[in-house]
Amino acid sequence: MTAPEKPALDFDSLRPPSPFLTERHEAWRRQLRAFIQTEVAPNLDAWDAAATFPDEVYTKAAKAGVMGMGFSEELGGTGEDIDLYHRIIFAEEFFRMGSGVVFADLATHWIALPPVIAFGPPEMRETVARPVLAGEKKIAFAVTEPSGGSDVGAFQTTAEKRGDHYVVNGGKTLISGATRADFLLTAVRTGGPGVGGLSLLLIDAHSPGVSSKPVKGLSWYNGNNGSLTFDNVEVPVGNLIGIENRGFAGLANQFNIERFSGIAATLAMARTAIAEAIDWARQRHTFGQRLIDHQAMRHKIVEMIQRVNACYAYLDILVWRFGRGETPVADLAMMKIQATTTLEHCARESLQVLGGRAYTGDNRVERIYREARIFVIGGGSEEILRDLAGRQLGL
Ligand SMILES: Cc1cc2nc3c(=O)[nH]c(=O)nc-3n(C[C@H](O)[C@H](O)[C@H](O)COP(=O)(O)OP(=O)(O)OC[C@H]3O[C@@H](n4cnc5c(N)ncnc54)[C@H](O)[C@@H]3O)c2cc1C
Repeated sequence: MTAPEKPALDFDSLRPPSPFLTERHEAWRRQLRAFIQTEVAPNLDAWDAAATFPDEVYTKAAKAGVMGMGFSEELGGTGEDIDLYHRIIFAEEFFRMGSGVVFADLATHWIALPPVIAFGPPEMRETVARPVLAGEKKIAFAVTEPSGGSDVGAFQTTAEKRGDHYVVNGGKTLISGATRADFLLTAVRTGGPGVGGLSLLLIDAHSPGVSSKPVKGLSWYNGNNGSLTFDNVEVPVGNLIGIENRGFAGLANQFNIERFSGIAATLAMARTAIAEAIDWARQRHTFGQRLIDHQAMRHKIVEMIQRVNACYAYLDILVWRFGRGETPVADLAMMKIQATTTLEHCARESLQVLGGRAYTGDNRVERIYREARIFVIGGGSEEILRDLAGRQLGL
């Protein structure tokens, strides 16, 4: 009798089964994976080295139905009949390669475009939404300021109303896609202190007085992440998105989506790192046996899988709860902390399994290790989300 074949323990099999995933979700996964295998995977090392990717990726992604996910067909999208798993699968497939924050640029319009479509003037559907969904124009979401990102109420960029224009002065930093954006959905102070004085303005990035430059030190992640300066920039009052001084009121759903994407991205990166660690531990020999035959190594790997499985159980229930109309904000905040710190653990332990090979440039683990930290800061940092959860729980 031959021994039963051992499971592959690859990226796909490291996702525990979910009762909620359907054939429709799997078809979406296959569609994305085909695009990524053809257009992304072969170029990844070169794009990593260049810290950027060509503009044509946007138009190719649009043609492949990637940019338009969840947007109305009338605007060139793929249709609004999607659920959270479609967004989760998008993030999982892009981060499966450990392909990093470069692809944050491709997804930024999920956050920036819906408020423009929902609360902006109708003509922006044609002048902004349609070209962005076609991959012909780019939009960035400019909130964080050099003086800080967590303390939204302290933002200092001002927009002073003069006749039919606002005059914007100030600056933003760490903005994904800032250096090549055409439109900037920007948080500005139109009123008094605190969150109640903030509005959202859509700024044409090519207006006189707008300048951008890459954030120094991040270029090895993504040379398109940049800072912005606004020097007496005139913005038509018609570019106000939503109600003046209530700019953050309609953004809760955007932040929820951003958190789900961050969770999915981190769990996908964790699975890639674990799969690489298992593969290497099965090949490498030390002290007369394979690494995987050393109990200490098996324990590392089991603990990583155990932590990822627990995250997916939590995630599946959260998706189910949002799907039935609940908004469990505290759980989503705690889930993001759980997922991002799980990635930190898995990145560290996978890198440990690879040992020196992690530094040889022929694997994704080293890149994942570096990027793991970003997710604990962006999209709601660990400390801020714990505070949010505490308030929501009524502590
Ligand atoms: C790769 C990348 C991409 C990004 N893309 C965008 C983007 O597209 N658009 C955008 O607007 N921003 C973007 N950001 C910025 C990101 O949103 C901010 O980094 C984040 O909001 C935290 O703000 P900060 O870095 O200014 O930290 P700060 O607000 O200065 O906080 C510093 C540290 O102190 C902690 N802290 C702050 N207040 C408290 C408190 N009360 N109690 C305990 N701890 C506290 C924070 O959690 C953090 O760890 C990006 C960042 C990165 C790294």
